[in-house]
Amino acid sequence: MLNEWIKCESCGSIINRSDLEENLWICPKCGRHFYIGSKKRIDMYFCDFKEMYTMIKPLDFLNFEDYSEKLKKDSERIGIDDAIIVGIGYLKQDLEKSCLIGVGVMDFGFRGGSMGSVVGQKISLISEYCYENEIPLVIFSASGGARMQEGIISLMQMAKTVGVINKLKKKRIPFINVVTNPTTGGVAASFVGIADIIVSEPGAIIGFAGQRVIEQTIKKKLPPNFQTAEFNLQNGLIDQIVDRKKMGDFIYRFVSSFYYWKRYSVGL
Ligand SMILES: [Zn+2]
Repeated sequence: MLNEWIKCESCGSIINRSDLEENLWICPKCGRHFYIGSKKRIDMYFCDFKEMYTMIKPLDFLNFEDYSEKLKKDSERIGIDDAIIVGIGYLKQDLEKSCLIGVGVMDFGFRGGSMGSVVGQKISLISEYCYENEIPLVIFSASGGARMQEGIISLMQMAKTVGVINKLKKKRIPFINVVTNPTTGGVAASFVGIADIIVSEPGAIIGFAGQRVIEQTIKKKLPPNFQTAEFNLQNGLIDQIVDRKKMGDFIYRFVSSFYYWKRYSVGL
């Protein structure tokens, strides 16, 4: 494993796997943020993480060709039941463990991070938990969109997640969405878009349809950096771009402010 070398697709550098791991999977030469799975990301940012709603498993209710096998294969390969892990935990910055957070981390490695009934339900349940317990919600999104093999059921998750996350606003509970590469389709167009703070890793793609499809539809050439975090920041779709190494500090700033407000602003 120590002798494994990985090529950076952005700058062509050949990097030792252990060096990359140590650098949180960011290219030391050009800063490209490599893809990382949900478990790695949870370990990176949180301590005392408690996974919740693990009893919810995907079902092949449309008898879609090969779907059951594909679910099984992805599940065995990365060791998760569906494209999201949800739970509660503390950021590593929170040394006193005084700011509990509801967490959702999507995994592009599982069916392209697509949102089907399980992803939608887990997001809804963790949002309800945050609403009941008045704790902030942080979701790391990574998705190719709705899950084709679940048909209309997967599209329904868009309305469902938006509905339940909107409830948080009634209690002024913050929802921070961290965009990771890529966040597209029905996920970008539902709960991600209504986050109070939309922060992105550098270079992450966020958008609904792909660049080529849009170009064909509007019959215009789009800029090469179209749909990147940098392009979207310039055009106001996201609020900030933050390096993976500083993301924990960034989230902690908002989360701790919320707890401060909650403690000292009774009755507001
Ligand atoms: Zn590079």
